[in-house]
Amino acid sequence: MSLPMEEIDIQYVTANCGHEVYDGECMYEWEDLHTFCPECIECKFNDLSTEEKAALLNCEVIEINFPRSHV
Ligand SMILES: [Zn+2]
Repeated sequence: MSLPMEEIDIQYVTANCGHEVYDGECMYEWEDLHTFCPECIECKFNDLSTEEKAALLNCEVIEINFPRSHV
């Protein structure tokens, strides 16, 4: 991704989440080109369920369901 010159001059860019990302920090871009600052991408991860995080690691989620005996 290339940055416009005037944004390089002021040493930060504004991610689509609305926060500033400064020189030396990372900005995170999704496939739809939506960008996030480090704090917001962290929040996205915190919002994920364990199953969703496991899927990101290519783990297969195996649900254990023993048959219930109904009396
Ligand atoms: Zn943000």
